[in-house]
Amino acid sequence: MGQYVFYFGDGHAEGNAKMKNILGGKGAGLAEMTNIGIPVPPGFTISTEVCTYFYAHEKSYPPELKRDVEHNLARVEKSVGRKFGDATRPLLVSVRSGARASMPGMMDTILNLGLNDQSVRALAKSANDRFAYDSYRRFIQMYSDVVLGIEREKFEHELFAMRDRAGVKTDAEIPARDLCALVETYKSIVRKEIGKDFPQDVNDQLWGAIGAVFGSWNNQRAITYRRLNRIPDDWGTAVNVQSMVFGNMGDDSATGVAFTRNPATGERRFFGEYLPNAQGEDVVAGIRTPLPISKAQAAGGEKSLEETMPGVYAQLEDVYKKLENHYRDMQDIEFTIESGKLYLLQTRTGKRTGFAAVKIACDMVDEGLIKPRDAVERVEANQIIQLLAPVFDGQEKQKALKGDRLLGRGLPAGPGAAAGRVAFNADHAVAMAKDGPVILVRVETSPEDIAGMHSAAGILTTRGGLTSHAAVVARGMGRPCIVGAGSLRVDYSRGELRAEGHEPLEEGDWLSIDGTSGEVIAGQLKTRPSEVIQVLLEGTMKPEDSEVFRNFDRLLKWADEIRTLGVRTNADTPKDARVARLFGAEGIGLCRTEHMFFAEERILRVREMILARDEEGRRKSLSELLPFQRGDFEGIFRELAGTPVTIRLLDPPLHEFLPQTEGQISTVARDMGWGVAELRAKVNQLHEMNPMLGHRGCRLGITYPEIYEMQVRAIFEAACDVKKQGIAVHPEVMIPLVGTLRELQITTETARRVAQQVIKERGVEVPVVVGTMIEIPRAALIADKLAEVAEFFSFGTNDLTQMTFGYSRDDAGSFLPAYVEKKILPKDPFESIDQEGVGQLVRLGTERGRSTNKNLKVGVCGEHGGDPDSIRFFRTCNLDYVSCSPYRVPVARLAAAQAELEFQEYEG
Ligand code: PEP
Ligand code: MG
Repeated sequence: MGQYVFYFGDGHAEGNAKMKNILGGKGAGLAEMTNIGIPVPPGFTISTEVCTYFYAHEKSYPPELKRDVEHNLARVEKSVGRKFGDATRPLLVSVRSGARASMPGMMDTILNLGLNDQSVRALAKSANDRFAYDSYRRFIQMYSDVVLGIEREKFEHELFAMRDRAGVKTDAEIPARDLCALVETYKSIVRKEIGKDFPQDVNDQLWGAIGAVFGSWNNQRAITYRRLNRIPDDWGTAVNVQSMVFGNMGDDSATGVAFTRNPATGERRFFGEYLPNAQGEDVVAGIRTPLPISKAQAAGGEKSLEETMPGVYAQLEDVYKKLENHYRDMQDIEFTIESGKLYLLQTRTGKRTGFAAVKIACDMVDEGLIKPRDAVERVEANQIIQLLAPVFDGQEKQKALKGDRLLGRGLPAGPGAAAGRVAFNADHAVAMAKDGPVILVRVETSPEDIAGMHSAAGILTTRGGLTSHAAVVARGMGRPCIVGAGSLRVDYSRGELRAEGHEPLEEGDWLSIDGTSGEVIAGQLKTRPSEVIQVLLEGTMKPEDSEVFRNFDRLLKWADEIRTLGVRTNADTPKDARVARLFGAEGIGLCRTEHMFFAEERILRVREMILARDEEGRRKSLSELLPFQRGDFEGIFRELAGTPVTIRLLDPPLHEFLPQTEGQISTVARDMGWGVAELRAKVNQLHEMNPMLGHRGCRLGITYPEIYEMQVRAIFEAACDVKKQGIAVHPEVMIPLVGTLRELQITTETARRVAQQVIKERGVEVPVVVGTMIEIPRAALIADKLAEVAEFFSFGTNDLTQMTFGYSRDDAGSFLPAYVEKKILPKDPFESIDQEGVGQLVRLGTERGRSTNKNLKVGVCGEHGGDPDSIRFFRTCNLDYVSCSPYRVPVARLAAAQAELEFQEYEG
C-alpha cells in the first residue's frame, strides 16, 4: 500500500506541486508553499486514494489510516506547541476538501474543530471570551450542518433572535455573555435533533468531519458541478487537516483573497480584498463588504490593507512575487493574518477570462518568466474567441440582471453580445435591419433564413443543439447566437416570445443576447465591436493603439511556428473568405456552393431548374445561374490568391430549395408560367421521407450531370479569368457524399472533362485537382480504392457522425443532452469527435487512402475542424489540415499548435 497521509509544516512537506492527483489542488499547493519557505500553518493531507477506498469499501477506511492520522496529528501538535483536546493549550484544526480540479464551494469545510466545553475556556484565557465563544458557536453550527445533518436555518434563527435581544445589528457586536448563552442554546438544538449531546471527544469530532468531507464528494451540488465541468466521478477528493489560524483575533488580524494579476483583464497588478477581524467564511458568505488590499485599488475613503498593516502588506507582496516566480503563472491565493502574523492558506493557478489569459501569457514572455511555447500551451484555445466578440457593457448587464430582466438561458452557440429588435422571420429581419439592429428569433432556422440571419445582429432559437443549422451558420458568420433556449416559447401566430413570469415580447421589442454565456435579457444593452475586429477587419483602429490586438497577433504567430497541421476555412462568399484570410486561414477547405443559390435573384432560377420538365429546361436555368457562380468564385479566388480553394459541388437535397409556402408556390408558378396546382403537385412529387439519406450529394450529380457540369465550368472559367489577371489560383473540386467507387469515377470524369474544355477555351493553364469528401462510413472503408481516383480526401465529420451513429444531425438535440447526462456518451459527438468510433473511421480511411496514394492530401471540414479536442485527435491521425468557420480560424491555429506540442511530448 502506498502512503495515505502527507505531512506539511516547518519548512518541509512530504508532497509537492506535482502531486495534485493524490493530494488534490489545495493539498499540493500547501505542500509546495511549505517547501519554498512561505508561512503555512502545519497540517497534513489525506490522499484522494482514501476517498476511492472509502467508496469502494462501504464508506470505511484503510486499516492503517487511523495510525497514520494520529502520527501526523502528533507532528502538528509538536510543531505548534499545542495538544488536540488539551484543557490548557488546545490545538484547533480546520478540515477541508480539495479535489484535483478546483470545485469551488461544492464540497464541505469545517473550521475550529477541537473546541469543546473545556478547550473553549482555555481559548478564552489565551485570547478573550468573546472570540472563544464566537468560535465555538460557529463550530457547532458548521459541524451540525455538515456532519450531523441539522439544518443551518435552526441555528441562524437563534442567532438573529439573539441579535435582536441584544439590540445590535451585526454578529460582531454581540457581547461575550450572550455568545456564551448562544452556545448553550445551540447544544440544546443538537440534543433535540439527534437525541445525543454535541460530541465533546475531539477525536470523534475529527473522524466525523473527515467522513463528512469524503461524503461531500457525492453531494448533489458536487455531482452536478462535475458533470458540467467534465470532471470524472472517480477522481475523489483529498482531505486537508490543518492547524487553525485566526483572522478574527482583533484589529491586527484579518483574512483575505487575492490574485497576483487581474483575472478579468490580465493587468499586472496585485489585486484582492480583505476583511479585518474576520474568518474566511465571512468573506465567502458576503455578510460584510470586503476592503481593497492595495492603495491603488482603494476608492474614496476605503482603508486598504497596505495602509492599515503596511508591514504585513509588504510581506504579502513578497509572497505573491515569490509564488508567481515559482509557479510562473498567475496565482489565486487565500491568506489570514493572526495578530499581525501572515499565513498563506491556499494558492492555485487563477482562473481567468480569455482576455486575461492572452495578456498574462504575453506579458510573462516579456518578463522572461516563460517561453513563447509555454504561452501557446497556456491559453485555452476556445478562450481566444472571446477576443473577437462584441461585448456588453459590464455594469449595464449587471443592472439588467438585478432588475429581473433575465428571460432565460440557452446554449451559447455563437459567442458575443448583441442587442436588437425582435424579428420572428427572416424577411422581417431583412426589412427591419435597415432601421437598426435586429435579433432574429426562431424556433429553429433553415437554409431559407440565411438572408435574415445575415442581416441580424444576433440569433436566438428555442430548439436545436450546437450543430443545428442556426449554430453552424451563426458561427460561420461570427454572429452572436443562442440556440435551444428551451424555457422560452415562440408563438408565430401571435407574434410573441414568451418567458414565464415576464411580459411577452412582440416583434419590434428590444432584446439582448449574450452568446458567450447563453443569457437572454429583455431590453437593449449597449455593445461595441472587439478591438481585434476593429484592427483586423474594420480598419478603424491601429495595431499600435490596441494592446489586445498585438497580443492576439503575437500569440497566434508563435502558434504558427509550432504547428504542422494546416488551418483552412469553410467559407462560401468572398466576404467570408476575406475575414478568414485576415484571421490567418491558409486556404478554403470547404466552399458550400449551395449557399450561393439562396440570394434573391438566384433562388428563382434554382427553383426553375429543379422543377424543369426536362434536361433542356434545366440547362436553360443553369446557364442563367452560371454567371452568378462564376462571379462568386472569382471573388473568392482573388481573396485567397495563391492558396488552395476547395469547392464542393452541389450537396443538399433538392427539396431544400423548393417553394414551401402557398405564397412562394404561387410566385414561382407565375414566374414559370405554370398553374399553381401543377406546381404544387410537382413539389409534392419531389418530397422525400428521409431527405438527408435521399437524393443529394453526388447522387444529384449523377442523375443530373448538367448541374455539376455548370458548376465545374463556373469554377474553371473564374479560375482562368483570375489567373489571366496575374493572380495564382489553386481550385480543388470536391465531390460530396461518395459511397462507391463508381460514383467517384463518374463524377470525377465529368469534372475533368469540363475543366479541360474550359482551359482549352480560355487558353490558360490551371491545375485540375479533383477529390472527394469522406462522409459515409462505406467511403472510409473503401478509401484505398477511392484514393486511386481522388487526389485528396476531406472528412465531412458532420455527416460521418450522423451516419456512423445513425443520429439525425437535425433532430439529435432531442435526446443527446439526456445521453450526455446519463453518461451514455461522454459528450455531444457533433461537437467533439467521437474518437472511439467515428474517429476510427477517420484514422482508418486516412491510412487506407495513403496506402494506395502516398501523395493523398487529407483534411477535415466538418464542424469538428474548429474544436480543440478534435484537432488534437486529428493531429494523431496525421491529417494535413483542418478547416473551420472563419471566426474559429484563430482557435484552430492555437489548438493545432497545442496538439503539436502534446504529440511531440507523447512521441518522446
Ligand atoms: C460534413 O458533413 O461534415 C460537411 C462538412 O458537409 P455538410 O455539413 O455541408 O453536410
Ligand atoms: Mg456533409
